[in-house]
Amino acid sequence: MSRPLLEIRDLTVSYGGGSVAVDHVDLDVHDGEVCLVLGANGAGKTSLLRGVGGFASSERGRVRGGRVLVGGVDVTGLPPRAMVGHGVVLVPEETKVFGTLTVGENLRAAPAKGGRASRAALLEEAVSLFPFIAERMNLPAGQLSGGERQQLGIARALLLSPRLLMVDEASLGLSPIAVRAVFESLRALVDSRGTTLLIVEQNVRAAQAIADRAHVMVSGSVALTGPAREVLQSERVRRTYLGLE
Ligand code: ATP
Repeated sequence: MSRPLLEIRDLTVSYGGGSVAVDHVDLDVHDGEVCLVLGANGAGKTSLLRGVGGFASSERGRVRGGRVLVGGVDVTGLPPRAMVGHGVVLVPEETKVFGTLTVGENLRAAPAKGGRASRAALLEEAVSLFPFIAERMNLPAGQLSGGERQQLGIARALLLSPRLLMVDEASLGLSPIAVRAVFESLRALVDSRGTTLLIVEQNVRAAQAIADRAHVMVSGSVALTGPAREVLQSERVRRTYLGLE
């Protein structure tokens, strides 16, 4: 098998006081794969994504050990801005928007890869992939629900044309219909562009429809890895790790 697009090796992440959020994690993500990270609250899922995509200066966390390679290049500990240059973009759990600007204005104000022509094409593609966003282009972004804002965050991330897109909780706060729409959009993204996805998702049912592999985190470690279908349908996993019946 070819070299993974993302190689996480022995990664340890902690925050100011020293509490370890990610504890010696190894994880591979292959090109074009949809990889799902599951686990209870506080298991370290968000910290794992930040350990790859970089910490915003306000977050106080740091990579304390291990390595992160993208396309074989060592990118360990780089800030988000630098990670974008390596094709890695993280959509955080809470997307920040300019509330008084419309959705369209937010998208037009966002950084994009390449020149003006490239931006226009990327914007058109992002909007076509997210019909939900297309319908709300003229609405002030401050009026979006948390879940809708998250979709704007994903559309905005697409302007950076990522090779690896990481999304922290795409479905949080969305209605079941909207959840289905988001996951259909993500699937279309993978199919049309071959974008690789690493996603954290609580909505196991929705994620099951698109994920190829699943990793279950427990107390900062990856307790279990396997084909998504197997992991998500395992009774033991559902009961022991995910608290589902
Ligand atoms: P959730 O599903 O609740 O978002 P999670 O699995 O994403 O949880 P993390 O948010 O990565 O888990 O948290 C892992 C550990 O790191 C927890 O003990 C948490 O309290 C701690 N932690 C997370 N963010 C910070 C922070 N900014 N400062 C200090 N500790 C943090």
